Amino acid sequence: MEAILRLPSGDRKNVDMMLNTVERQGRRLSHLIADLLLLSSLEKNGVSEPFQPCCLNDIIADLSEEFLELAIASNIRLSAQIPEEQIYVSGHEQQLYRLVSNLIANAIQYTPDGGTVGVSLKRRERTAVVAIEDSGIGIPAGEQNRIFERFYRVDSHRSRKAGGTGLGLAIVRAIALKHQAHLKVESQPGCGSIFTLEIAVLSEPIKDNKNSIINI
Ligand code: ATP
Ligand code: MG
Repeated sequence: MEAILRLPSGDRKNVDMMLNTVERQGRRLSHLIADLLLLSSLEKNGVSEPFQPCCLNDIIADLSEEFLELAIASNIRLSAQIPEEQIYVSGHEQQLYRLVSNLIANAIQYTPDGGTVGVSLKRRERTAVVAIEDSGIGIPAGEQNRIFERFYRVDSHRSRKAGGTGLGLAIVRAIALKHQAHLKVESQPGCGSIFTLEIAVLSEPIKDNKNSIINI
């Protein structure tokens, strides 16, 4: 901003260019602040909103649809496998959306042109298993634990170009922890990655007389 103020008033071209940079950095900062606030509220052990029954089928169907445009623009085939059976978990719906959304965003971001990203939901006994699989660049074994740390990025040069803040997976981990869900990553450089979330399913949700969902 100081540089713009020092430019001669007729230098419209440079002013425009610098204003664009200021706008981009402003957006980046507000994104970073929002992510940091979310992370600190997730990590606080205070009273939080009570958990509600959340339908994982809906969350995954909505997000697969939302990300379709980005996938097409990146020339990536995005597919979703969702069972007929409705799978409910006890949780915070907005946070669960955020968790799955961060994983799909990464899968698309770290998969080159022509690749594939698959999102699936399965039930394994009393557990719901959500998997986000990509055919992308993969993550070296030594880095697979570190990627969940705040601001950690495998290749800071490449990541800087991609424009993220490096908080995405720290948020994923904090939300998984809040939901007592198990999160794991399997990956091979050059072959792709699979991020899997395992979370306890809610005892059969049923509808009462007033049509609201209750647990038994
Ligand atoms: P942000 O999500 O805040 O925009 P980011 O994507 O760099 O930025 P994270 O989502 O926390 O941050 O991911 C951390 C790092 O882990 C990434 O920079 C990338 O190097 C690596 N990574 C995450 N997901 C994948 C993936 N599906 N394939 C390959 N590398 C990945
Ligand atoms: Mg990310």
